[in-house]
Amino acid sequence: MQNTSAIPGLVARHQDDLTGLADRVWGMPETLYGEFRSSAEHAAMLRAKGFRVTEGVAGIPTAVTGEAGTGGPLIAILGEYDALPGLSQVAGIDRPEELEAGAPGHGCGHNLLGSAAMLAACAVKDWLEATGTPGRVRYYGCPAEEGGAAKTFMVRDGAFDDVDAAVTWHPGGMTRVDDPLSLANTRMDFHFSGRAAHAAAQPHLGRSALDAVELMSVGVNYLREHMVQDARIHYAYLDAGGKAPNVVQARASVRYSIRALDLHEMLALVERVKKVAQGAALMTETSVEFQMFAAVSNHFENLTMDKVMQQALDELGGVPFDDLDRAYAAKIRATLSPSDIAAEWSVVNQAPSDAVLCDWVVPMRPNGKVLIGSTDVGDVTWKVPTTEVLVATAAIGTPLHSWQMTAQGKSGAAHKGMIHAAKAMGRVAEILISDPARLAEAKEEHAQRLALTPYTCPMPPDHKPPLVPRPDAA
Ligand SMILES: [Zn+2]
Repeated sequence: MQNTSAIPGLVARHQDDLTGLADRVWGMPETLYGEFRSSAEHAAMLRAKGFRVTEGVAGIPTAVTGEAGTGGPLIAILGEYDALPGLSQVAGIDRPEELEAGAPGHGCGHNLLGSAAMLAACAVKDWLEATGTPGRVRYYGCPAEEGGAAKTFMVRDGAFDDVDAAVTWHPGGMTRVDDPLSLANTRMDFHFSGRAAHAAAQPHLGRSALDAVELMSVGVNYLREHMVQDARIHYAYLDAGGKAPNVVQARASVRYSIRALDLHEMLALVERVKKVAQGAALMTETSVEFQMFAAVSNHFENLTMDKVMQQALDELGGVPFDDLDRAYAAKIRATLSPSDIAAEWSVVNQAPSDAVLCDWVVPMRPNGKVLIGSTDVGDVTWKVPTTEVLVATAAIGTPLHSWQMTAQGKSGAAHKGMIHAAKAMGRVAEILISDPARLAEAKEEHAQRLALTPYTCPMPPDHKPPLVPRPDAA
């Protein structure tokens, strides 16, 4: 297809500034609503590039938006910049070595994710200004994707109410339009309260909260047989009630993650898990309180949007990696397990080859063996027509949330992948703004699907994001 788009040339104008931002954010890894320096860097770059900046979006101190253009449709480009605990790693090497012991690290490539999204927005801004086209682009700097569901709060609080369509991406091993599949997910804490007693002298007076947590696990394990396909339930102990076996544990807490392919199936499953908890409390004569931590919806498909993204990718072709990129990727590949590498190929339904970097575009909907997690992009997809592209930034088979992903986060391949992602996202915005019929088609598809299954925010209206204090605050 002939590519007459101005976007790639406009991306090139800003790419050095934005790869610099990606590298700086890599070097200040911050997690779960603590992204104070990273979001400040994003806000400063937005101002330097001439965007109209709003900080503290939806009451979240580390959420920021930057808007440009006037009139016309409004296209959102979503970025992230949160890191993961325990994934500190020296960049550019092929062995695990912490940069700072026990510190967080960018093991999911979100340093690239936010910077590429802003790079796309810079190109769209320039294009709108140069052509005088009515239309707006808004970069969304979203914190706490890893477990904090910031976008779900932002959707609930109206931050996307005036948006016509949204575009985002994720770094990884392959370049392709993302499948419209992710699991709706609720993280909920169950706090049991009982009565302490001497475990030998007066066990009959004790009511064990720890017993309740264990019986809840037994109940949930029986529930598994009777759940919808693809549902997932996992748990972690938050508090086992203490270390003394001679005391009946008066308190115990457990965090559950409850996932299903559909938002409404997930919400129904949450109610069933609550009943299991109540049953465990009844059996043990303890009491239980439920506390929502965060929840996200599944990815709501928009085929029209995905076809626009596929067009943008086909025009661009694969990421133009060079021999230096391939040499480092080959070293990383040597550290990966054969099953990690095979898994990535099976997702795209292709036989494994010797390729260490994906320099081609995978066809849309490859119908491979999909491996699905959860993301707060899901709630944006229910709110407005959304497409997400995956772009190769790392060796094929690199698992997300690994030291290998952190190590590759400032590499030449990472920079080329993020620039490529910006070109694809910017092109989608250009198509949607300049072709009202395509945008109308995407919105009509969204409205029709939503009429069949209306959106329910998976979090109660009064539930607040688990914010953390600013580290320099008194
Ligand atoms: Zn991620």
